[in-house]
Amino acid sequence: MLNQMIYNGKNQQGQGEAIAVLDPASLQVITTFHSATVAQVDAVVATAQQAFLQWQHCSDQHVEQSLAAIAADLLDSRDELARLICQEQGKPLALAQLEVDMAIYWLNVTNALEIPVLRQQDEHGKVMQTYHRPVGVVASITPWNWPLMIAIWHIIPALKAKNCVINKPSEYTPLSTIFLVDIINRHLPAGVCNIVLGEGEIGAALTQHRGVNKVTFTGSTVVGQQILSHSAQSLTPVILELGGNDAAIVLDDVDVNAIAEKIFNGAFLNAGQTCACIKRLYVHENIYDAVLNALVTLADQQVLGHGLEASTTMGPIQNIKHYHKVKTMLAAALEEGAVIANRVVPAVPQQGYFIAPLILTEVKEQSQIFATEQFAPILPVVKFKDIAQVIQQSNDTDYALGASIWTQDLDQAAQLAGQLQAGTVWINSHADVSPHAAFSGWKKSGLGSSFALDGLLQFTQKQVIHGVV
Ligand code: NAD
Repeated sequence: MLNQMIYNGKNQQGQGEAIAVLDPASLQVITTFHSATVAQVDAVVATAQQAFLQWQHCSDQHVEQSLAAIAADLLDSRDELARLICQEQGKPLALAQLEVDMAIYWLNVTNALEIPVLRQQDEHGKVMQTYHRPVGVVASITPWNWPLMIAIWHIIPALKAKNCVINKPSEYTPLSTIFLVDIINRHLPAGVCNIVLGEGEIGAALTQHRGVNKVTFTGSTVVGQQILSHSAQSLTPVILELGGNDAAIVLDDVDVNAIAEKIFNGAFLNAGQTCACIKRLYVHENIYDAVLNALVTLADQQVLGHGLEASTTMGPIQNIKHYHKVKTMLAAALEEGAVIANRVVPAVPQQGYFIAPLILTEVKEQSQIFATEQFAPILPVVKFKDIAQVIQQSNDTDYALGASIWTQDLDQAAQLAGQLQAGTVWINSHADVSPHAAFSGWKKSGLGSSFALDGLLQFTQKQVIHGVV
């Protein structure tokens, strides 16, 4: 099993502490890797800087062919990669397979993009052309919830724009990203795409490194704030994709049977450990009982277990730190008056960081589980009567990543969508991201954007040349 860093085109043993990678369902150690030292971070940055001297000048066709070859290798390794994701992250195998498929899809769509050259002319006939140049060395820091897919979201547009990349995956889920970077290195020159391993301090050493020209970070708001505060000193530009506390609003004209499963999946995808999951559900009073009943039925039917078992529909919380955080938030919410609406809470395996999927009512708005990002298989459901008021409640949060409106009246949905403060608003779906549209958070959910041409151009620097003929 690949468990080392890769830089300068070679496997490199970390010289720092040993860190175990646990299967969160069985609590077995999958493997142990050695963290980088700060000196090794210096070495990998130097490697990437050196590789950039050539890579920035390679032809568009060469980049396109190399990325297509990487996609083909990923497809060949689909099953092996999916099993690895399932083991290290905990999600059911079918969802891990979907993660690999989505990663390849994102790669191909990004690879098909063209970086434009804009031509402008002033009233005296002077011509100016705007180019998008690569920025240099990109530091990419990724989280543990969708380890392969988010690594693809960072690495592929950065490479497509002819930058060199250094990824640091989450210390909890490094294995699928090492696998990816190994494949990438079969097709690109040494030093163009690298991976370093370690915990937060290695991430900090990388993102604060003077040789890094751009930082792309997906993770918690608190770490995003730390990265931004360092960039205030260095002016290294950053892209931040951070936490969310998405609201979904269900109007009273919906067909409850048709939407219940979609809402359930929008809230419990990856055991709720998805940035753009529904984390607060507002349901019109006329259909509240019917929606609640349908969601409880779905929650009660879930089978918790190891992702490699065919019967499993929901995996564990990915790591012990987050598991304790969720347990604490849940206990506080119940203490504050929240009620578990489930009729028969699904059984929790004895081993592993499992939390049963819960539908909660009577949750206080100020409860941590409601007011902050809970990132867990728990859905608070709130009854509403007045649409204007519910829009205000939905917006009354520090986060603004996603939101959704559920109704058959698409005109009203479009009109309400415009009143919601969120980077993405879905109508009759949720968390349904696309590589063809920009994805970005407002407020404390992020800075900059990902996906599509907008996301690709984030990895470039504008240069205007005046006087072209
Ligand atoms: P985290 O912020 O704890 O860790 C993310 C990464 O940052 C890890 O690789 C970690 O080692 C590294 N890190 C920690 N401290 C650092 C520091 N000081 N400097 C640099 N790097 C550091 O987040 P997590 O718990 O791994 O992931 C869950 C979070 O990610 C949730 O908040 C979720 O909403 C968010 N997320 C957001 C999106 C999005 O697109 N908006 C997508 C997925 C996940």
